[in-house]
Amino acid sequence: MIVVIVGADGRKWTKPQEIKARNLIYHILGSFKYSKEKIIGDVSFLPNGEVDARLELVEYDSLTIVTSRDPVGEEKYYCLDCLDYISDMRIEAHQINNSGGIIKVHSDGGISTWVEITTATLGINQKIFSPLCTDPDRLGYTLKQCKNYRGYHQWENHFKPRSIKMAEFGLLEKEPYILYNIVPAKSCRWCDGTGWDLKKRQEEGPFSFPRCKKCGGDGAYSDGTYTYNHAKKLNREVIKIVID
Ligand SMILES: [Zn+2]
Ligand SMILES: [Zn+2]
Ligand SMILES: [Zn+2]
Repeated sequence: MIVVIVGADGRKWTKPQEIKARNLIYHILGSFKYSKEKIIGDVSFLPNGEVDARLELVEYDSLTIVTSRDPVGEEKYYCLDCLDYISDMRIEAHQINNSGGIIKVHSDGGISTWVEITTATLGINQKIFSPLCTDPDRLGYTLKQCKNYRGYHQWENHFKPRSIKMAEFGLLEKEPYILYNIVPAKSCRWCDGTGWDLKKRQEEGPFSFPRCKKCGGDGAYSDGTYTYNHAKKLNREVIKIVID
């Protein structure tokens, strides 16, 4: 079973939304690991941020979590025992005193970072798709190594091919697959979170309500949307969860 989780990076979330998103990730991954169940949409949250969701049994032999390692913020050490970041200065002393694992993650990766942490905490297999360069002259270069080639290069040679790979992972082998796209409410920058195509609306007048094509009309959009749309086109199971 392949479980892909994509969504918005760390800069898009308020603290209460972050709590809900992290609880949701824990819930999704825990359900797969412990009860072989999947969340099938219809997610709501209790006032303390705990998840209330509908689950359905699934069948699979092995479980792989796929995430994207979005290089936003600094690379920092995170302790799976303390469930917190540790400074570079404390790292050596920390490793000696500590039995738990220490991983390195991007501090502002948002969903991708939280998935990496939770997957490691639960001890589930994970496959991380970093946005490495696909340009024949710069093959395998990181974003940092391609820092002089911004904008279109980054999208065309790093993010787009990476998104496609995530959407198509396990397709030929016909592996069971589900993708969750976790996005904060009102985060679509093309429609200011309204869900309407504002430009078209301006042209057509106040009684016209054309949907925003970027977010699909719910006002929530993240960089995981391309992966989500591509997987959907391939008739794979995709679920978008918007968090208020
Ligand atoms: Zn620790
Ligand atoms: Zn590049
Ligand atoms: Zn929109």
